Amino acid sequence: METSLQQQNIQITPVAEEIPFYLPVGNECTLFETAYRRQLPLLLKGPTGCGKTRFVAHMAARLGRPLFTVSCHDDLTAADLTGRYLLKGGETVWVDGPLTRAMREGGICYLDEIVEARKDVTVVLHPLTDDRRILPLERTGETLRAPDEFMLVISYNPGYQNILKSLKPSTRQRFVSLSFDFPPGEVEVEIVANESGLARERCIPLINLATRLRTLKGIDLEEVVSTRLLVYCAILMEEGLDPLQAAQITLVEPLCDETDVKEGLLELIRATY
Ligand code: ADP
Repeated sequence: METSLQQQNIQITPVAEEIPFYLPVGNECTLFETAYRRQLPLLLKGPTGCGKTRFVAHMAARLGRPLFTVSCHDDLTAADLTGRYLLKGGETVWVDGPLTRAMREGGICYLDEIVEARKDVTVVLHPLTDDRRILPLERTGETLRAPDEFMLVISYNPGYQNILKSLKPSTRQRFVSLSFDFPPGEVEVEIVANESGLARERCIPLINLATRLRTLKGIDLEEVVSTRLLVYCAILMEEGLDPLQAAQITLVEPLCDETDVKEGLLELIRATY
C-alpha cells in the first residue's frame, strides 16, 4: 500500500527519444546546461503551472539523461527517496528509491515542491549539494558518489510559503536559483497555440484576457490563472466549446469558490467573449 502510494508520486522517464516542447523565455536553457556541466544543483522558484516541470523534462531530454521526477508531499520521507528494504517473495530485498536510482544511472532527479516533504529529506540533500556530492545509504552501509552526469533539481512555489513550510536558508544557499514566472504575452501566445492547436489569432485575445485577470486589483485570489489553465481553455475552445463557458470552467472555477469573486472575474471575461 505504502509502495503504491509512493509510486504515484514518482515519474521515471528513460532517456527521451523526443524532446518535449519548451519555449524559452530568456537564457534559462543555457543556464541549466552550464549548471549541469559544472555539477551545480539547481533550484527553480515560481508559481504553479508556469512551466518549471516542462523545462526540466525538456532539458533532461536535450542532455540525454533519464529523469526521475518526485512530486513531494507531506508524507514523503528521506527513505522514499533513497530506498528501503521490502519483502519480496519471502525475502527482504533492498529497493533503490528515485534519488538513489538517479545517482546510480547518472540521471537528473527533480524534486517538485520540495517544501512539502518531511524535514529529514533536507538532511539527505546536504552532502549531495556540496562538493562532496555523496549520498550515504545508512541502511545498506554504502556511500554513493554522484557521477558527473547526475544533477539535482528542486522547485518550490514561493507563493505558498508559510513559516512552517519553507526552505531553510542553509538549504537554499546550496542551490543556484532561477526565478520563473508566467511568460510574457508574445511567448505565452506561442506556447498556448502550440500546446492546444488553437489558432494564434484566437490565442491573442485569450492571453490579453489572462494578463488583465492576473493584474485585477481588489480581488483576493490565492493563485492567478496559470499557463496550464490557459492551455486547457484553448483546448476546449479548439474543440468548439462556447468560449465564455470554456473560460468559466478553466479560468474561474479552478481558482475560486466565492460567488462574488467569481462574478468579478466573469465580468472581465464577458468583456472579451
Ligand atoms: P509547473 O511545473 O511550473 O507547475 P508545468 O511545467 O507543468 O508547470 O507547466 C504547465 C503547462 O504549461 C505545461 O504542460 C505546458 O503545456 C505549458 N507551458 C508552460 N510554460 C511553457 C513553456 N515555456 N514552453 C512550453 N510549454 C509551457
